[in-house]
Amino acid sequence: MVAALISDRLSPANCPRLIVKIGSALLVDKAGHIRREWLETVVADVAARRKAGQQVAIVSSGAIALGARVLGLPKGGRVSLEDAQAAAATGQIGLSSAWAQLLHEKGLVAAQMLVTLDDLEDRRRYLNAAATLDRLLALGVVPVINENDSVATTEIRFGDNDRLAARVGQAAAAQGVILLSDIDGLYTANPGVDPNATLVPEVRVVDARIRAMADGGSASGMGSGGMISKLEAARIAQGSGAHLAIVSGRVDHPLARFADTGIGTLFWGGAGKRGRKAWLAGRLTARGRIIVDAGAAKALRDGRSLLAAGATGVEGAFARGDVVEIVDADGHLLARGLAEYDAIDAARIIGRRSDAHADLLGYAPRSSMVHRDHLVLV
Ligand code: GLU
Repeated sequence: MVAALISDRLSPANCPRLIVKIGSALLVDKAGHIRREWLETVVADVAARRKAGQQVAIVSSGAIALGARVLGLPKGGRVSLEDAQAAAATGQIGLSSAWAQLLHEKGLVAAQMLVTLDDLEDRRRYLNAAATLDRLLALGVVPVINENDSVATTEIRFGDNDRLAARVGQAAAAQGVILLSDIDGLYTANPGVDPNATLVPEVRVVDARIRAMADGGSASGMGSGGMISKLEAARIAQGSGAHLAIVSGRVDHPLARFADTGIGTLFWGGAGKRGRKAWLAGRLTARGRIIVDAGAAKALRDGRSLLAAGATGVEGAFARGDVVEIVDADGHLLARGLAEYDAIDAARIIGRRSDAHADLLGYAPRSSMVHRDHLVLV
C-alpha cells in the first residue's frame, strides 16, 4: 500500500478552498523584475486545481521589491517606511497586471483585494472582507490579495504576508494554506548554519520546541517573512482548523511537485475553532489587558468566564466589546476575549465580588468581566 502524502490534505478532494502565498524572493528576481516564466508554471498549477474543483486565492508579495526597482530605491525599497509605501504603490500595479494577464491566459479571472491589518482585526470589517472573498471564490474568480502597504503604517501593518495569508484563510474559511517559500519547509535547525539539520515533515502543535527550530529574518533578504512569521501563520491557521504547509517554490510547478512528492512541512489543522472564536484566536492586536490571579487563571483553563473577583489589574483604554488580553501576574498571555466592561468600569470592580458590583457601578452588573462564550485560551 502506498503511504499517504502530507500533500493529500491540501488536494482538491480534501481541501475545497485553498490559499497560496507567494513570497517576494520567488516572484521577483535580484534585478527587480517579475520571474514570469516561473510564475507561468505556478499559474498552470492553479489552473489545474481550479479545473479539479478547488477554489484558490493567492496572497502575493512583491509589490515593494518591484516598485523599488522602478523608482531606483536602495535596499529593495526597505530603507524607510516612506520608501516602502511609495515602492508598494508603484509596484502593485505591475504585480496585479502580471497576475491578471497570466491567469487570463489560462482562462481564469483575477480580482484584486488590498487589505490592512485593521481590516481584519475589526470584527465588522473582517466580516465584510470575508463576505467579499466568499463571493469571489464562489464565482470561480481567483482573488489576488496583498497588504495595502501604501497606506499602512508600522503600527498597523502585518508586515509579512505569511500571517496575512493565514488570516485570509480564516476569513475565507479555507481548509488549507500553502506558503511557497525559498526553503523546503521547517528544519530542525537553520540548514545554512547546521549541516545536520533535517526537514520536519509534520507538526501537530507549535510549541517551544518547534519555535526553537526557527530563527528570525528572511533568508532572501527580500521579503520580510522568515520562519518565525511562518510559525505564527501556522498557529493562526491551526487555530481555525486549517492545515498549513510550507513548501519550496524554488522549482517550476511547485504546487504540482508538492502534490506528487509531499516534500514540505505540514502543520496539522485538526479540530479548530470556528467563527468568532477563530477570529479572536488569530488576532494580532488588543486594546488592553486584564491581569488575573492564579485562581482566575485556573478557572479560565477549566473553561469558565473571567470574574472581576479574580482580576488584579486593568491596562489600556478599551471600550465594552473591545478585544483584551488576559495575562497572569508574570505577564504571560493566557487568553483573549471581548471585554464586558470598558476599562474605567472594569478598574472599579476588579478584586470585588459580584454582590458589590451594582453599588460600585451604579447599574445592574453583567455576569462576568469576559464571558466564556467570547473568550479563547491561547
Ligand atoms: N506586502 C509586501 C509586498 O508586497 C510583502 C510582505 C512580505 O514580504 O511578506 O512587497
